[in-house]
Amino acid sequence: MRTVTDTVIRVDLDRLGRNMDAIAAMCGPGVAVMPVIKANGYGHGAIGIAPTLIAHGASYLAVARLEEAMELREAFPEYPLFILGFTPDRLLETVVANNITQTVWSLRQAKLLGAAAKRLNTRARVHLKVDSGFHRLGTEDADELYAVCMTENIDVEGIFSHLALASREEDERQLARFMKVAGALEARGVTFRYKHIADSISAVDYPDFRLSMIRPGALVFGMKSFVSDNIRVEQVISFESRISQIHTLEKGEGVSYDYLWRAPERTHIATVPFGYADGYPRNMRSKGYVTIRRVKCPIIGVICMDQCMVDLTAVPEAQEGDPVAIYGDGSANTMTIQEASTLGGTNKNEIISRLTGRPARIYTSVDGEFVL
Ligand SMILES: *Cc1c(COP(=O)(O)O)cnc(C)c1O
Repeated sequence: MRTVTDTVIRVDLDRLGRNMDAIAAMCGPGVAVMPVIKANGYGHGAIGIAPTLIAHGASYLAVARLEEAMELREAFPEYPLFILGFTPDRLLETVVANNITQTVWSLRQAKLLGAAAKRLNTRARVHLKVDSGFHRLGTEDADELYAVCMTENIDVEGIFSHLALASREEDERQLARFMKVAGALEARGVTFRYKHIADSISAVDYPDFRLSMIRPGALVFGMKSFVSDNIRVEQVISFESRISQIHTLEKGEGVSYDYLWRAPERTHIATVPFGYADGYPRNMRSKGYVTIRRVKCPIIGVICMDQCMVDLTAVPEAQEGDPVAIYGDGSANTMTIQEASTLGGTNKNEIISRLTGRPARIYTSVDGEFVL
């Protein structure tokens, strides 16, 4: 088991399971749920959370890149895995050899996958990617997609697109463009087990965009960017540490690089061992706070790579070794991921996905806990 110091990310698997159940209940039968666990499961640790997602009905586990799929493939030799992004031509054989479902939009990719499948005496499973307006990946050329469908040793299992979420009106336009391409292929005799266009926000707010599959990432982790009240989900992650040392500063003494904070009077401060190399935004200086004994303590001075300092004025009883909540669920005056994203000037997905591999992940549930 890995060595665990004071700075850890705690993942509540019971909440994760409840979120998955709430998503399934919201969609009803007939809509497959493919949780997106790219970027190390949005910081939660893909390997640690996957068994819970599988136990709660995930049809597939989706990632962005082949490396991420391979990590999951080693741990889960049989489970359906999906690569949402581009895989370079030279690695398409690895995709087939590992029975991973690949996103494709060109005949070139299809031929390479088909040839690899033939060599390996198997078939390559793919979903077609339609560019309905986002202009990131995919094509709107139904003839090319039809040629993919006709390629030897290729099984086209699904067709999908991705929304820009520019406005309801724009999203409707994208859905129509997507359905037009899918319809053109169906008119030529192609059938799709899965059609999908909805991410977290659209899956909640636009019930008619759910089609036969949804691809929620943020939602699975309890991030609420949707506006309707179609679902209740809870934040799964928290980020915690402990006080390493307490100092008493005299009036005028500086703290951290460049002494950008100076004590306005005699002040107790604490050093806490988390910093920007753990994925905490360095721009939280003079905005961020941690919570000690239910009290908000402002971060003071420049945030270092591995540590930062906080003002203990509001909690003079704090002791070295006290627990420190960096991100919590908002209870006991902790900072939520939502609040961190607002203070850090970014979105919730960036706050969680940027958490690095350095802090140990502690997975808790009614069945006990484990560390990865
Ligand atoms: C990341 C991603 C998702 C999930 O997005 P959320 O906003 O986190 O739900 C879905 N589809 C694609 C193609 C993605 O890249």
